Amino acid sequence: MGATWFHGLGDDEERNPVFLEALEAGLIDANPEAEQWWSSQFLLPGATQPLSKEQQAAVTHTLAAWGEAVDELPPDAPGATVEHLRRAWEQLLASGKLGPEHEELAQRVWRWREQLQRAMDGCHSTSEQSAEGHALYDEMPGGVNCALPAGMQAVAEHMASKVADLRLQHAVQRIEWGAASSSNSAGTATASGSSSSGGTSDSGSGSARVRILCSNGDSLEADAAIVTVSLGVLQAQHQQLFSPGLPPEKVAAIDRLCIGCVNKLFLDFGPADAAAGSSSGSGSSRIESLAAGSNPAVSYSLLWSEPWDGASSSSTFAAAVPSAVEAQLPGWAKGIFSIRFGGPETKQPQLAGERHSTVQPAAGGATAGGSDSAAHAEEGEEEAQFVVPCAEPQQPQCFQGVAWVAGEAALAMEAASDEEVLCVLRQLAALFPQLQLPPGASWDRVRLHRSRWGSDPLFRGSYSYIPAGGSPADVAALAAPIYPTAGTHSAGAADKGAAAPAPESAPVLLFAGEACHVKYIGTMHGAAITGQAAAAQLLSAWQRTS
Ligand SMILES: Cc1cc2nc3c(=O)[nH]c(=O)nc-3n(C[C@H](O)[C@H](O)[C@H](O)COP(=O)(O)OP(=O)(O)OC[C@H]3O[C@@H](n4cnc5c(N)ncnc54)[C@H](O)[C@@H]3O)c2cc1C
Repeated sequence: MGATWFHGLGDDEERNPVFLEALEAGLIDANPEAEQWWSSQFLLPGATQPLSKEQQAAVTHTLAAWGEAVDELPPDAPGATVEHLRRAWEQLLASGKLGPEHEELAQRVWRWREQLQRAMDGCHSTSEQSAEGHALYDEMPGGVNCALPAGMQAVAEHMASKVADLRLQHAVQRIEWGAASSSNSAGTATASGSSSSGGTSDSGSGSARVRILCSNGDSLEADAAIVTVSLGVLQAQHQQLFSPGLPPEKVAAIDRLCIGCVNKLFLDFGPADAAAGSSSGSGSSRIESLAAGSNPAVSYSLLWSEPWDGASSSSTFAAAVPSAVEAQLPGWAKGIFSIRFGGPETKQPQLAGERHSTVQPAAGGATAGGSDSAAHAEEGEEEAQFVVPCAEPQQPQCFQGVAWVAGEAALAMEAASDEEVLCVLRQLAALFPQLQLPPGASWDRVRLHRSRWGSDPLFRGSYSYIPAGGSPADVAALAAPIYPTAGTHSAGAADKGAAAPAPESAPVLLFAGEACHVKYIGTMHGAAITGQAAAAQLLSAWQRTS
């Protein structure tokens, strides 16, 4: 439902720690192949024919102009990203590369690309994103963007298997800190999946500096806590979560930084065998190979009749008149910018006996029109054993298509029911007649699995970004550890996730997670690197002060 790709594997100086975990777990090859990026077919609403050669050339020019504009942003670029994009757009129009007859198409492509940028950067819109923050983001060295087929859950499970005292179902309600002096018993707790290496809960020693109260009534004590809840959770809950409250500079950083929303809508047309009942043999094998990820993915990019956010200053663009169907759709539907069949997120039920845990078909998953188990049973596959990377019953077992939606539209989509979302997807398929389902698949027998990162109280967003008006200093202030007496200590090294020189005492509260890293903000490796840096900082402080 979330992360799929390693954005760079690292080099001798810095390795991608999440990739290393996947490697250790035997989930990926030491030299994985880079993702073969699928080409995208750009679709105009109502069009029954593919774009002409000239139109395709206009698409290529438009995308190249966008690419240059974002790649060339200097690290001290002022203002919001959109301002730089607007200049690039106007230069593109002035360049004469398009021809006036293609300006409207180019405008649609520009808007599509902006939606993709939202999904890449996790921002609500490039008009809200700091250009400097965008320019400072970088992929890890080591080149390849490669996916872990079927998702990262198995990596998380591998990492969890190494934690000596991992407590699930312990939602942290309150972190009391700033109490008595350190006992130096080297106990830590993380506020997401609490752990304590120094003792068990309710130790009641009285010498601990942090007391953590959980919603199940449990409590634990420790010398320090590394807080790794998302920026969204901190924004919503820091006042209730911390006692005493966090220092003002930390609160200001929490308030200033932003977390965006990116959601995936997974389309499950049922397993290949079931599809065979309603299709030809070749159709069935097509679904099968899409699900296995062995086929090149087919990706569609939807060119809605909407101006892009930054278009207001462009005098040349007259917004296209939307068709009646398009006009009837809820606004968020036009936030769906891409639908892909095949690719790394695809999953299919496999026979038992492989390395993953085996579960029965899920009961009561988040599906449209009833539970997965009931639906699958109706299709006569009740004897199948599903093998998925996670034993959680709500995990989907099979899907072949994924649609992406980002920004405010992603939040609005979350508020709609499964039936409404499916209805929109069907309308969308009618509006873009060139959008072909894999043979054997049918909108009549589709189930929906979707993420709802924005409204999930444990996440409240997908990944973070620096807003226009914010700066990397906000990330440093968020990441800065808190000392028992001196308050926040300026870390100043959030771009490296590295520990700053600390004062005499050891920190009592440390902060880590994707929002704490300027260069790798919004990524798994950014989250992991900041977590490791916080742990290293704590250990070295304890060594120094013991
Ligand atoms: C759709 C999507 C696609 C993505 N694709 C990629 C990708 O391809 N590559 C990539 O590198 N990154 C990707 N990311 C980003 C990546 O998943 C995140 O950056 C990363 O997971 C952040 O990790 P984190 O530990 O900082 O925070 P989180 O993953 O948010 O973890 C915080 C944890 O805190 C827990 N928690 C919250 N409140 C409490 C509480 N009160 N008590 C106890 N626990 C609590 C939560 O349950 C959660 O487990 C994607 C994210 C999304 C949503």
